[in-house]
Amino acid sequence: MGLYLDYNASAPMIQSSIDAMVGSMQILGNPSSIHSSGRKAKSAIEDSRELVAETIGALPQNIIFTSGATESNALAFKYADNMKVITSAIEHDSVLKQKADSIIIPVTKDGVVDIQCLEECLYKNKDDKLFVSIMAVNNETGIIQPIEEVSKICHKYNATLHVDAVQAIGRIKISMQELNIDLLTISSHKIGGPKGIGCLAVSDRIYYSLSPIILGGGQERGIRAGTEAVSQIIGFGVAAKYSREFNLLKTKKSRNDLENNILKLIPDIEIIGKNSPRVANTSSIAFKNILAENLVIALDIEGYEVSSGSACSSGKVSESHVLLAMGFDSSIVQGSIRISLCRSLDESEILLFCNTLYKIIQKLLKKRKIKE
Ligand code: PMP
Repeated sequence: MGLYLDYNASAPMIQSSIDAMVGSMQILGNPSSIHSSGRKAKSAIEDSRELVAETIGALPQNIIFTSGATESNALAFKYADNMKVITSAIEHDSVLKQKADSIIIPVTKDGVVDIQCLEECLYKNKDDKLFVSIMAVNNETGIIQPIEEVSKICHKYNATLHVDAVQAIGRIKISMQELNIDLLTISSHKIGGPKGIGCLAVSDRIYYSLSPIILGGGQERGIRAGTEAVSQIIGFGVAAKYSREFNLLKTKKSRNDLENNILKLIPDIEIIGKNSPRVANTSSIAFKNILAENLVIALDIEGYEVSSGSACSSGKVSESHVLLAMGFDSSIVQGSIRISLCRSLDESEILLFCNTLYKIIQKLLKKRKIKE
């Protein structure tokens, strides 16, 4: 028996989203065509736009469908072309790699953006046009960022606020309007929808100042050219609707039981962000004297799929910039894995996983001793 424990890398699709997509394959028209088949496709897209908008407290006309969060982040940063960009040290690479001269705000040892430092930075640069990009929830640690406070500070200094909320949707409530967020990124495959689709939600205030990165037809009100991915958009809409109802209370209990069981078997571990506000499904654990890659492979052989550091960058054996930014030293960072739950687990599943993990750790430590 194995378990897929890598929800934050890509969530299993929910059945209603699959069903809606399969049904949508029969939709014939191009949404830009004015005949009946075209209008049918267009209308299905608009229904999904409403579902996505309602999930994030935005208006349907604020939603621009994209190929996913990476493109949404790039589009948001296109708006920042001539602005001074301030972002945090724990952002996803699709934010960090956008602008080489971005000012990087550190995080505290608890993995939370240093608000005082952000305010000082905004004050120091208050005469510039400012663009701030801070994620809502970190993908590796699950640590929740103080977006309400960030938003207040940003607007005090007239800065535009972009939030990468990819790991927040379906985990915590995020309302673009209530939080006064200017640009918000989400991705479908992190909430049980299909891969290759996401959106950038843009407030009315700045919509007409946006520039496209993909030029061509006038789709998405001129901001994102190209025939819309109708089936993906439909699957995304359904997943966005259901994500409003995800109840993570049981998942949180499973995550906590899992951590406590591991701690009992292997006391010498570091549970990253244990005392920070965290989303319910994520656990980032560092094992001493272990190389995470070896652990991930050994767990996979037993049928358990987890990731080392950020799965988006797996394949590259690089240390997690998130954990380094939190001040952990290399030896801790190298032995850290991320377990992210898709659902609550029963007691026997937790025990079996923990026992398997324990045996693997013992084996790896033994091998290491022999090599030394
Ligand atoms: N931002 C965050 C916080 C993410 O976790 C990810 C995916 N790991 C992305 C952006 C990129 O998302 P996508 O796969 O939709 O391009």
